[in-house]
Amino acid sequence: MGTVTAPEPCIFCEIVAGRAPAHVVYEDAATLAFLDIFPFTRGHLLVVPKRHVDRLVDLAPAEYSAFLGAVVQGCRQVERLTRDYNVGLNQGRLAGQIVFHLHFHVIPRYNDGNPFGQTPRTRLESGEATGIVRDLGGPLRR
Ligand code: AMP
Ligand code: ZN
Repeated sequence: MGTVTAPEPCIFCEIVAGRAPAHVVYEDAATLAFLDIFPFTRGHLLVVPKRHVDRLVDLAPAEYSAFLGAVVQGCRQVERLTRDYNVGLNQGRLAGQIVFHLHFHVIPRYNDGNPFGQTPRTRLESGEATGIVRDLGGPLRR
């Protein structure tokens, strides 16, 4: 399956292409995982297929295994920080999706509180991100 160009500039396609910056924690032939720029918690990461698809149901069955494997890999890396985390997919505008390139969130949990609630988020700073990527054992490339 070839690369599909997004209908309009897609920030995650730009990251995959190396034209936009990201703090990568994991990469393989089909998948990229990087830190969320407005993290709910320290180590909040996103796992995206390199091929642009909007929705989970747009993945080809042949892609399921690699993508799920990369989500598991993201979870494994987050377990270096904590055994408690949420894995989430916002699918569609009403569900809170704002970037229309498929991505799973892996959100470490360190204390009580619903990370999907109205938690204020501040932009990730580069210096801090470097330490987080290191704590996640990244950047891992396979
Ligand atoms: P969603 O609401 O599921 O579409 O989440 C999109 C996520 O992407 C949000 O948590 C944003 O903070 C995050 N995000 C947007 N732009 C970037 C970027 N350039 N680098 C990293 N994360 C981003
Ligand atoms: Zn895209």
